[in-house]
Amino acid sequence: MSAQLINGTELSKSIRASVTQRVKQLSKQGITPGLAVILVGENPASQVYVRNKVKACEEVGFYSILESIPATISESELLTHIEKLNKNPKIHGILVQLPLPGHIDSSRVIESIAPDKDVDGFHISSAGALVKGLPGFWPCTPFGCMKMLESINYDLKGKHAVVMGRSHIVGKPMALMLLEKNATVTICHSATVDLKAITLQADVIVVAVGKRKVLTRDMVKPGAVVIDVGMNRDDNGKLCGDVDFEGVSSVASFITPVPGGVGPMTITMLLQNTLDAAQKTHPAN
Ligand code: NAP
Repeated sequence: MSAQLINGTELSKSIRASVTQRVKQLSKQGITPGLAVILVGENPASQVYVRNKVKACEEVGFYSILESIPATISESELLTHIEKLNKNPKIHGILVQLPLPGHIDSSRVIESIAPDKDVDGFHISSAGALVKGLPGFWPCTPFGCMKMLESINYDLKGKHAVVMGRSHIVGKPMALMLLEKNATVTICHSATVDLKAITLQADVIVVAVGKRKVLTRDMVKPGAVVIDVGMNRDDNGKLCGDVDFEGVSSVASFITPVPGGVGPMTITMLLQNTLDAAQKTHPAN
């Protein structure tokens, strides 16, 4: 078997095109979705991520601001800053790029964002809504994975989904989203015993570990769908995922590539969440 690719770049383009359309409609009513991105310090990877986010906002017609703040800012100054954005009616979504410098408590900062502007979906109330199956912002990366499954019309009902990784930004919310769609879900982590015995039972495997080739061909049931969230560098410095792509694509039915898979979907779902946030503040739309 040779797996079909789920192309995140193409899917992103079509979702972004519909976001752009909606922005045009909203602008006729004087509404422009607005996103504020806060970057504290000068972490080079974070600088690239925030630039890409702001650029994506511009491309779909959002209002966006990038606030680059020195790493020396105190936690209380940062909280004051967020409070101002919470009250700014032009801003519908607030994103604080992580990681934050060590002297700042990330949880306290994330919890200070108004829940209705928490477009990253990391606030405790967004997490709680997901646990309870209530409407709320879904964290962008697992949300993107769900869109990829939707794009191949995959019916999760009754399927066994295995999630490798249990971080609060990918693995755990991913598992809850799959559960919400009536999959039977198993979460694996670094203490899981006999991982292969579990992954071999899976109809869907989502890999969010952060280690190259953590999922190999012999661990995958023929016909399984494999979503690779990992972003690693190979020995030549090339971007690669967590899955042994060559081996696994010979046995899976569908697979996401890296690059061009989950990566582009993450920013796209941030745009979608920001659009939804703007629409919620103007319920007539
Ligand atoms: P993380 O916080 O480091 O979590 C990694 C998880 O993997 C942990 O739960 C860990 O278990 C588990 N784990 C470690 N070794 C394992 C093994 N051998 N088998 C099964 N599970 C194992 O990472 P993350 O933030 O979730 O990110 C995971 C990967 O996704 C990274 O490569 C990251 O760069 C990538 N990522 C990509 C995007 C994107 O937009 N494409 C977004 C976010 C993250 P314990 O909990 O027991 O330690």
